[in-house]
Amino acid sequence: MFTCQICRKVFPPRTPSFKVVTETRPVHYPFRFQAHHFRAPDKRGVIKDQIKDDKGGFSREISREVTACRACAEALRASRLSVPAKTSNVLVKAKTAG
Ligand SMILES: [Zn+2]
Repeated sequence: MFTCQICRKVFPPRTPSFKVVTETRPVHYPFRFQAHHFRAPDKRGVIKDQIKDDKGGFSREISREVTACRACAEALRASRLSVPAKTSNVLVKAKTAG
């Protein structure tokens, strides 16, 4: 059972719901010195402890996600698919409600 956060209808149990990303934001991951410790073969094939830095970087993360019914999720996805792929930020994940 769930309430669609777009059309506000309540759906019975065992009806699949969909997570729809409606907003994303840019995020910066900072450089981290010696962040990754792992065991791996070196140039000669001998397994050794190794340490590497984390480069960090820029990406996008979800800032707003709503639970929607199939019709609303598909309508929102279709409306976003008409937008060029670079600016479209809609992701739809299916989830079965219990
Ligand atoms: Zn709906």
